[in-house]
Amino acid sequence: MREETKYIVIHCTQTRPSQDIGAKEIDRWHRERGWLKIGYGKVIKRDGTVEQGRGDDDVQAHVKGYNHCSYGLALVGGAKEENWKEEDDNFTAEQWEALKKTLEELLVKYPDAQIVGHRDLDESKFCPSFSVRTYLLHEDVRGYKFQDGLTDEADLQELEHNGNE
Ligand SMILES: [Zn+2]
Repeated sequence: MREETKYIVIHCTQTRPSQDIGAKEIDRWHRERGWLKIGYGKVIKRDGTVEQGRGDDDVQAHVKGYNHCSYGLALVGGAKEENWKEEDDNFTAEQWEALKKTLEELLVKYPDAQIVGHRDLDESKFCPSFSVRTYLLHEDVRGYKFQDGLTDEADLQELEHNGNE
């Protein structure tokens, strides 16, 4: 049982876009690593299907140092077709739709959680292959409160400003 949920961490599986995997395959890989079972709470398949991994309120296994206080979900994909070691923001429209819906559902359960990408908590990773902060600024995820004191509007202006430099 996880005591607190400070973060909802978005991951990718770092697999090729043509690899149509889901919770079952990831469960097998994670067990092969010697883990109890799949580390993520939810998996979003290429077709947008959302599968349950580890229990929502269980301590999950997905980001070093933060497992005791965070929820993990994974989008399938995120690596280049030609080279799975390279990042590629290649998620499908169905996945983006499912991601938003899943985040909104999780925020009902964990209203104070901050949504971040794996790489925001571990600089050595490129996971989930896109900027979660930019995503949040452009996508109106219902129930999400930015916790750095800036309004969405101010953040957007800051982004545009930086983009023009
Ligand atoms: Zn990750």
